[in-house]
Amino acid sequence: MSLCDPEEVALKTFFLGPQAENASWVLDEVEMIFRHWFQWRRRLFPKDGVAISEKDQKEISYQEKQKQFRDLLHNLLNRYEKEVPKFSPRYIGHMVSETSLPALFGHMITLLHNPNNISGEVSKVGALLEKEAIAFLSEMLGFDVSLAQGHFTSGGTVANIEALWRARFRMDHWLALGCYERSIGFSSRDLIEYAHRGWKDFKKVKDLLSPEDSELRFFSFVANAPWRSVPEIEKVFGQDFKGPVVLVPNNKHYSWQKAVSLLGLGETSLWSVALDPKGQLCIKDLQDKIKKALLQQRPVLMVVSVAGTTELGEIDSIDEVQDVLDSYKEKGIEIWHHVDGAYGGFFCSLLGDPYTEEVLQVKDQKALKSISRTHSVTIDPHKLGYVPFSCGAIIVHNEEDYETSSFSAPYVLQKNLNTWMRTLEGSRSATGAAATWLTALSIGLGPHGYGRIIRRSIWSKMQLEEQMKKEIAEAYFVPGCTTNILCFCIAFKGESLSEVSRRSEYLYEQFPLSGPFYVSRTVLKFENYGELLKKFIQLWEAPIDQDSLCVLRLVLMNPFFTSKETQISFPEAFVHTLKELILKFSQK
Ligand SMILES: *Cc1c(COP(=O)(O)O)cnc(C)c1O
Repeated sequence: MSLCDPEEVALKTFFLGPQAENASWVLDEVEMIFRHWFQWRRRLFPKDGVAISEKDQKEISYQEKQKQFRDLLHNLLNRYEKEVPKFSPRYIGHMVSETSLPALFGHMITLLHNPNNISGEVSKVGALLEKEAIAFLSEMLGFDVSLAQGHFTSGGTVANIEALWRARFRMDHWLALGCYERSIGFSSRDLIEYAHRGWKDFKKVKDLLSPEDSELRFFSFVANAPWRSVPEIEKVFGQDFKGPVVLVPNNKHYSWQKAVSLLGLGETSLWSVALDPKGQLCIKDLQDKIKKALLQQRPVLMVVSVAGTTELGEIDSIDEVQDVLDSYKEKGIEIWHHVDGAYGGFFCSLLGDPYTEEVLQVKDQKALKSISRTHSVTIDPHKLGYVPFSCGAIIVHNEEDYETSSFSAPYVLQKNLNTWMRTLEGSRSATGAAATWLTALSIGLGPHGYGRIIRRSIWSKMQLEEQMKKEIAEAYFVPGCTTNILCFCIAFKGESLSEVSRRSEYLYEQFPLSGPFYVSRTVLKFENYGELLKKFIQLWEAPIDQDSLCVLRLVLMNPFFTSKETQISFPEAFVHTLKELILKFSQK
């Protein structure tokens, strides 16, 4: 018989543990890492001689400074004792948890070398690690690794903006070329056709027409500003042009508002796609919105679907969205499909294992498997990748779609640009890339590595939900929480939305003081979650006295929440505390 359950080897080896169980091993490795760092310097230029002598080090004022510094270190460490204990299984609040050891070591080692991935000149190794790490993520997401391109960002917000930046780049190029072709009387294609052409024919058409650069720049709304180029576009096509729209599901992450605002598309260009009763992107409404946009002669710059929504952790039907877009593609209208997998991209690590069925619906698996059919993906290793902040990534299906540039001639497809031309951010640390790299090679991004850890987290959610259902008749679970996020409220029959919301707020504030447990809350608005809420609140026949409902939100990411070894059972302790707090609220 093996000493450690093979199911648990990955999580037990690769996390420090809530009581620092792996401390001695970690200390050994930390010491080795620093020793190696010292030796590296000494070996590289051994004859250069020392700059700080032993005599210097014996100087009293020198030693006093060191002592003062040590006090400051203690001061800083002490201050951090008040930090939110995100390592603990008691922390089930936001999308963050204990970081894995490979990720921590990869991050730390990189800090010692401090590469700047802005350019190969200041990052020789870091830049290569980034390429390799992007390939590992691409493979996990199901992309063809020989085609996929991408880079690390400071997070999902920047990655989302980067995707929209590229979609805009493509649309702008085609519109400018289309305007030129029309202006010389060569074509009868309309604006919608031009706006939705993929890169495939671009070079061919451009070579054929061979316009001067300045002739294309004249029509480009990136090179000029919309207020300069739109009148020209309208003249050429003989019609109004109100600009493109971006279709985002109605649970829209605030990064999309920032994106359209920054890219000068206008806040009104963001069109919400309605959510169905489960809180997922409604395919029928998507179809209606695309039709409506095209009827108004407004090109669809991008359709966004979400893998792992911020509120409920659910996965949109990416496959069905792509089916809809494919039907347009057959008509010559290629619409950019971006998957916001900032949170849920790592659920792909579950795919390809028979056990997956126990924790992930077939429908969700199908959706995740379809990511490879889309144009681009946002994925945040600093969320479900158990990697330290800040680490997000944008991955694009192929080289052409990866193209972007804001300042060089926007109509030329340039190869081999410096990386800094192709990233929104300038100076970039290689910490996230190295953390992801070491993770992928040690734990593995497949079903037997991360897949096991993440499967465990979904299973933990299921366990906790079961336990609550058994013991608390007044617990109602928000539909659509199909992964490792659990949203719920406590409601008595006939209780109004405001009363239930007040209780949620109370529980949210009291949990860190009792138990303690660290939870989060979210406010579901009718404006966004109308269909879902209408159905949900019928369960306790709630009078609608306000336009939203506050619910508690638990993100069950911690790998040890359902550990068999711990002295207390966290799910039981949580339910026990919850029951006490419900009672306290009723006695207020
Ligand atoms: C977290 C999140 C983002 C933003 O990511 P940051 O890393 O916080 O910038 C975008 N979209 C979704 C769905 C997210 O959950």
